[in-house]
Amino acid sequence: MAGSHLSVVIDLSPSQWHLSSLHQPYPLDISAFISQLLAFLNAHIAFKHENTLAVFGAFPGKSTLLYSSADPPAETPSNDANYFPPLKLVDSTMMHRIVQNLETLTQNNGDDKAPSALVGALTKALCYINRLTLEFNAATTNATEGLEPLALPDSRILILSVSPDQTASYIPVMNSIFSAQKLKVTIDACQIYGPDTVFLQQAAHLTGGSYIYLERRDALLQYLTMAFLPPPSVRQTISVPTQDKIDFRAACFCHKNIIDVGFVCSVCLSIFCQPVPVCSTCRQVLLTKFPFKTLQRLNAARSSLPSSPSQPRNSSAPSSPQKTNGRTPSRTEAPLGPGGLPHSGSISLNNSTTNGAISSR
Ligand SMILES: [Zn+2]
Ligand SMILES: [Zn+2]
Repeated sequence: MAGSHLSVVIDLSPSQWHLSSLHQPYPLDISAFISQLLAFLNAHIAFKHENTLAVFGAFPGKSTLLYSSADPPAETPSNDANYFPPLKLVDSTMMHRIVQNLETLTQNNGDDKAPSALVGALTKALCYINRLTLEFNAATTNATEGLEPLALPDSRILILSVSPDQTASYIPVMNSIFSAQKLKVTIDACQIYGPDTVFLQQAAHLTGGSYIYLERRDALLQYLTMAFLPPPSVRQTISVPTQDKIDFRAACFCHKNIIDVGFVCSVCLSIFCQPVPVCSTCRQVLLTKFPFKTLQRLNAARSSLPSSPSQPRNSSAPSSPQKTNGRTPSRTEAPLGPGGLPHSGSISLNNSTTNGAISSR
């Protein structure tokens, strides 16, 4: 049986790690984090001979490949009888490249307050898995016989984040999630420091992965080995901790704010925080305007909505089409589903809430 592939995306924002090292009661600094991470990566390599590994670093404004078992670095580690060479190779290569990247960051007077390029690193991880999938299919007979390409078995991405959500990256994150679903890649996420991130919760939920908010940061390695070391195929037989509460809110395309109630363009599924006459995303294609009367009605209904930011979001309406099992009702399911056809040549804005408070007709 083939091994499993693990791509790890690590958030290496110096400012966020500095805050994490000062945060009581469980401070965790970057060096302690890296030593625990290396132990986890070594465990994955040692788990099975066929296991493969890639590590991507998200630095402020830049993402880069730190280690790949498919392209092993040229330098061979010195012979140390107490060290298994593949493990030594991971450790020395990772450390070397992290230090190198952080040094160039300071040399170039880089803005270390810039947000981490987490999405860039995630996209690179997906491209990497896509490449492995192509190689995997070329090695099997499926490609030559014109059959459906196979997904790389047991491939997953683990995101270790210390940064808060960047609402501007909502669209690229959602696109990455769709790509991951298509590649049958599981995305796991662990928020080590800072507030819960809505986007990583959704990424894990929509790809069948696990999202963990680290309460006890000193127990990082324990969380990593217990929850994230078993490959997805094994997790069906063990109990991996998952979030029982998922924040399904989306960010509006106009202001990049995370919103409770939104309006969805039924043509391109763009999300807006208020009804707009022309969809800013697809207006190039559809130059028709939304009827002014309907707009007025939508706006009026919006102001009379019971939903406000202070209202708890877990009130499941009886008209909700989904079984929510006590979770917050999904508000982003609507943009994921098929949109209605434009009504008599105009763009119709459908309300994305599941509580049916607003009818778009
Ligand atoms: Zn907006
Ligand atoms: Zn549109």
